Amino acid sequence: MNNNIDVVVIGSGLTGLTLAYYLNKYGKKVLLLEKNPIVGGVIHTHHKDGFTFEGGPTTGALGSEEMVELFDELKGDCEFEGTSNIANERWILKNNKWKPIPDGLISGIKTPLFSWKDKFRIWGEPFRKKGTNPNETLAEMVKRRLGQTYLDYAIDPFISGVYAGDPNLLIPRYALPKLYRIEQDYGSFIRGAIKKRKEPKTELQKRVTREVFSVKGGLSNLINALEKNIPTESIQCGISDIKINPEGNGYEVSYINTSGEQCKVDASKVVTTVGGYALKEMLAFVDGIDLDAVFNVKYAKVVQAAVGYNKWDGLPINAFGGLVPGKEKKDFLGILFPGSLFQNRCPEGGALLSVFMGGIKRPDIIEKSDEELKSIVLREISSTLGEQKTPDLLHIFRYQHAIAQYDISTEERLEAINRVEANYPGLILGGNIRDGIGMTDRVKQGKYIADQLIN
Ligand SMILES: Cc1cc2nc3c(=O)[nH]c(=O)nc-3n(C[C@H](O)[C@H](O)[C@H](O)COP(=O)(O)OP(=O)(O)OC[C@H]3O[C@@H](n4cnc5c(N)ncnc54)[C@H](O)[C@@H]3O)c2cc1C
Repeated sequence: MNNNIDVVVIGSGLTGLTLAYYLNKYGKKVLLLEKNPIVGGVIHTHHKDGFTFEGGPTTGALGSEEMVELFDELKGDCEFEGTSNIANERWILKNNKWKPIPDGLISGIKTPLFSWKDKFRIWGEPFRKKGTNPNETLAEMVKRRLGQTYLDYAIDPFISGVYAGDPNLLIPRYALPKLYRIEQDYGSFIRGAIKKRKEPKTELQKRVTREVFSVKGGLSNLINALEKNIPTESIQCGISDIKINPEGNGYEVSYINTSGEQCKVDASKVVTTVGGYALKEMLAFVDGIDLDAVFNVKYAKVVQAAVGYNKWDGLPINAFGGLVPGKEKKDFLGILFPGSLFQNRCPEGGALLSVFMGGIKRPDIIEKSDEELKSIVLREISSTLGEQKTPDLLHIFRYQHAIAQYDISTEERLEAINRVEANYPGLILGGNIRDGIGMTDRVKQGKYIADQLIN
């Protein structure tokens, strides 16, 4: 029995590692428990045959002060990699052809993505009344403010890219809280965006540019940098059967280590950063609170394919990537071009692509065999990018619990979490079941929880 732990952190993805990093930095004794043999969660960079490719996230957006600060903290141990202007070139598929997303007034008028009716209608957006239904879906909100074709050829593909989700199910208040707040606070997306741009910013806020990033050598180097700054004895991987029980003023956490031994530690605080699906056994002690909405949070299942070519003969791909509207009835959600965005990811003159499939609308895709998935990937690349060759790298990754969905059940889930935390002081339920799903959100939450526990 080890009685000296301040905080047990369960799950060593980006959230758990960020949290453990800051707790350790500010003198707390931490124990990070992870079921996988290595830390990092869904983030994992692979190196093969001259390609450096990601399983899990490929790019982040510098979208919070906490993400900026983390790169400052880890300077020397990992290096931020931006993307130059290439990342501003983004495509949407329409009638099986990639069309650029407009980035200004003229291109916004000329684009074939949206109907003339909606292009005219958008001038009235600043004068439309704000929504009054807090449980309105994203699709309803967008149709109300912008029009059907903006939903079909902007928001629907964007949601496929970020949430692998369905705008008819996501609730903006939870899924896109910044967008929701803009409408509520300023009455209009357009007016809000203009006003927000004019608001005074601190030096740190000025660095929150939403720039697309990776890390030199791949995102695993961010994970390695965090791990390097947490004492080795504070991390235990390959453990199973975690159980939490209230004990005195804190908690007893029991688990089985890699040698099959039953271990127990006492800690003042426990923070979970695992998905809802993993919480049922850990929280068996919770009494009188219905936690079904937490355990059953819906996750999009995603298949990702890393596809590499030593020589690329398809369409020029000096772009961030392309997204696919559901209306196009394709078998993929989108495609990213990490070989164009980042240095040394593929041989000179070659290409590295990341193709995403599945999501909430196509849960069947993950059930397909590797051979079926590979044939879908090659068919879609040849049909939309014109490259007919067999690739030199084709690797399939499957994620059963890729992205938590912030749908109508979110309110019930958050209420249940709040009740657990109120009834069991010192127990915090973090992770992607709340506070957002992107890497930046995860770092923000990890830092926020650390701040709560340090002070
Ligand atoms: C395919 C894919 C693509 C993505 N693309 C992007 C992107 O481009 N940009 C972006 O910003 N975000 C992206 N994301 C989201 C982003 O990767 C995640 O939000 C973030 O990495 C999740 O970190 P986390 O620590 O919250 O969770 P996870 O990484 O899921 O970590 C949770 C950890 O808990 C561990 N665990 C689970 N159960 C137990 C248990 N019973 N006992 C002990 N440990 C347990 C797991 O093994 C895991 O290590 C993507 C995610 C996926 C899956």
